[in-house]
Amino acid sequence: MSHPDLPKTYDPRRVEARWYRAWEERGYFRAEPRPGQPHFCITIPPPNVTGELHLGHALCYEIQDILGRYHRMLGKPTLILPGTDHAGIATQNVVERQLAAEGLSRADLGREKFLERVWQWKETYGRRIEQQFRTLGFAFDWSRDRFTMDPDYADAVLEAFVRLFDEGFIYRGERVINWCPRCRTAISDIEVEHRESPGYLYHIAYPYANRPGAVVVATTRPETMLGDTAVAVNPADDRYRDLVGEQVILPLVGREIPIIADHYADPEFGTGAVKVTPAHDLNDFEAGERHNLPRVKVIGDDGRMTAEAGRFAGLDRFEAREAVVEALRAEGRLVEVEPYPVSLGTCERCGTVLEPLLSEQWFVRMRELAQPGIEAVESGRVGFIPERWADVYLEWMRNIRDWCISRQLWWGHRIPVYTCQCGKVIAAKVAPERCPDCGGPMTQDPDVLDTWFSSALWPFATLGWPRRTADLEYFYPTDLMVTSSQIIFLWVARMVMTGLHFLGDIPFPEVLINATVLNAEGRRMSKSLGTGVDPEETVLKYGADATRFGLIAQSSGQQVRLDMERMENGRNFCNKIWNAARFVLTNLGGRDTPVPPQHRQGPSAPVPLDGPSLEALAREGSVPDRWIASRLSATARDVTAALENYRLDEAARLIYDFFWGEFCDWYLEMSKPALRSGGEAADRARRMLVTVLANSLKLLHPIMPFITEEIWQALPVEGESIMIAPWPGDATFQDGEAEHEIELIMDVVRAARDLKASHDVQPSEKVTLDVFAESEEPLGALESHEPLVLFMAGMGRMVRHKGRFPPDRQDVPKRIPWRSEEITLAISRGLEIRVADTLKVSDSVSAALSQRLKRDLAREQEKFERVKRKLANPDFLQKAPPEVVDKTRADQKELEGKVAAAQERLDALRAQSPER
Ligand SMILES: [Zn+2]
Ligand SMILES: [Zn+2]
Repeated sequence: MSHPDLPKTYDPRRVEARWYRAWEERGYFRAEPRPGQPHFCITIPPPNVTGELHLGHALCYEIQDILGRYHRMLGKPTLILPGTDHAGIATQNVVERQLAAEGLSRADLGREKFLERVWQWKETYGRRIEQQFRTLGFAFDWSRDRFTMDPDYADAVLEAFVRLFDEGFIYRGERVINWCPRCRTAISDIEVEHRESPGYLYHIAYPYANRPGAVVVATTRPETMLGDTAVAVNPADDRYRDLVGEQVILPLVGREIPIIADHYADPEFGTGAVKVTPAHDLNDFEAGERHNLPRVKVIGDDGRMTAEAGRFAGLDRFEAREAVVEALRAEGRLVEVEPYPVSLGTCERCGTVLEPLLSEQWFVRMRELAQPGIEAVESGRVGFIPERWADVYLEWMRNIRDWCISRQLWWGHRIPVYTCQCGKVIAAKVAPERCPDCGGPMTQDPDVLDTWFSSALWPFATLGWPRRTADLEYFYPTDLMVTSSQIIFLWVARMVMTGLHFLGDIPFPEVLINATVLNAEGRRMSKSLGTGVDPEETVLKYGADATRFGLIAQSSGQQVRLDMERMENGRNFCNKIWNAARFVLTNLGGRDTPVPPQHRQGPSAPVPLDGPSLEALAREGSVPDRWIASRLSATARDVTAALENYRLDEAARLIYDFFWGEFCDWYLEMSKPALRSGGEAADRARRMLVTVLANSLKLLHPIMPFITEEIWQALPVEGESIMIAPWPGDATFQDGEAEHEIELIMDVVRAARDLKASHDVQPSEKVTLDVFAESEEPLGALESHEPLVLFMAGMGRMVRHKGRFPPDRQDVPKRIPWRSEEITLAISRGLEIRVADTLKVSDSVSAALSQRLKRDLAREQEKFERVKRKLANPDFLQKAPPEVVDKTRADQKELEGKVAAAQERLDALRAQSPER
């Protein structure tokens, strides 16, 4: 049978793209400010323009879409604002690799031409992620799409920089930074990937200048000793108390350097004396600041030794390591070399081992900026979910370091600092014509800003800041930030700080940290590792709704190992929903008659879907009607609570269990007698079917937007789209009595079905069901629902017995003695019901049983004979290993028991029906 509106099977490809286009054309994704009314706004974490979505990211964005769709149905102006990040170093690397393939470098092109290439690349390839978002059905407001290099956005970045500069937060400083000699740029601490690697610890003797002997220091980077300017010992270390203030002679170099006392020297490490290289180690740099030590830079930006390295100048840093070790050995200064695991900092982008080295950079002074951000989280104005991430955030904020914001790249926001030969330095949004002091020409700083400097402004720069736009006035603060734990420092903390600094208000009251998705092998999903799963492939295979459902349903906890079976499960669920809808639509036109919508009979009027209408409908309905209405209300309340608490996996499970386990498995069946009876009862059943189906679709819509819309359009309900239909969270109808009665019926029906199946009774066979209970109440309930029970259980007759099982009364049909199992059901309120093995077995059933039992007996007998023959064979007994013989004897015993049991069952059946 086919319905004119819904084809026989659900084909997502026929539906999804069509609906996405329609929603977008009708403007549902666009939000208009409605001042004075609550809104729901998320500015999505902008993916890198180089990026490609894998299923791990997809989860993060799906959460935002689900919540957005839910709040939109609540009637709030809902803005899910999308955008992309220019991703300085990542994008520059992609384009540089492209150039390299053509035998070119960025220097060959020059700054201007190179930037043109990057923009070209962005226009051509930067749309990939947007396409993926659309395929997955994310209702983002594309009319407000932002890119962190757009002119308006660039204006916000300049504004923020100039303000911080003029307020004295930005300074030029020398500092040890993580330097990538390949990318030739500074890498922020949190972008460093640490890798454990085997290495060596070199113990080197530095002779005293004015007394015999030497102090021994240990290092894993011996080439840096050329830049040592002190040896540090802990002031509490008795071994060195007398030596503080002494001078040692730096081997290979001959420089005299002091022994200083500083708490950072760990007495437990090596000999307790450590070399201090302020230009090539951050801790040493800070010790150097405390003790006013000179900074000698021996490794250059290119990873080669500088002139300061004397005879090692020009060597690559790793060649220099070998050479320095050899020279130390030759001079007899190398005391010991021991294998030692080292934690190598590598460049996240290119994998090169980073070099900590001294460099002139722009910094933001952070301590003062961090303070309000600390208070916002301590006071609970900004909360983390799960809560423990607040500690991670606070720990970092309390120990915050100044932020190195300059990058030696071309792609990015160029630092708006202008310098004059006279020494004048200014920051300005527009390049100054001439120096305000001397009138001379000014030159702009060649570096660009760290990408995170621009994304730190995301929640307000996307809404129009620094202009006071209507969007900014209405949507800021936004309502939620959904992101991954990996960027709490890089991004979340900085948005909180800039929001508080520039707007005087938090950017969002809650930060939801989503689960990390691992692939099926338990590995982190990453494009570069080739471990990512492309969501478009999954959508092609299962459909977008099934992908969304499968992904969100498995998202409990903070780590998810991706299970593709859940997507398959999602697809099965789609088919279930589809078939249920077809059943309902088919019945709208009268029994089993497919009709086009304009000719459908009742429910003639569109079905209202609010809570009070549901309640009115339920009150005049049957017990199953009241039951399903009560369950629907409870499900709506629970799904609403789960969404409010960001338990999206729970919401998916609740609606799945209700729709499949109660509506489809039970209510659809239970409605059949009423539908067949015609008249008033049938009309009521139709109205209830449409009401429950439509409300279930609404609860499902945020998770499965496409299929729910497609079915919604075929239903006789009000409203042009399910996407803007009101959320049914206000359903309050509750009917405990109906729920209790239907649960009882469901238990009895399940037991009866199981019993039939386990006795090989054909489902169509109308056998008799005996029910035992010690109290009157369940028996009375079953009596009043006898036709329903018999219909649902496929039984011919039901006999109710008051009393315990086994029965001692004569009127109970003769039991079948070969089955002693009974199905015991614990029913609520302390009642117990037993549907026991008292099926009245009909002749044909008996024949089938008899044949099966004969087969069983013959099979067991044959096995028994085989084992018996084996054990009678002297060869076997002699040659087989004793444990095999023992095992065979045990088998014989077991089979003997099985034969006896099979024989007993057959005898019992024959005793009941002697003719067989
Ligand atoms: Zn690099
Ligand atoms: Zn000047």
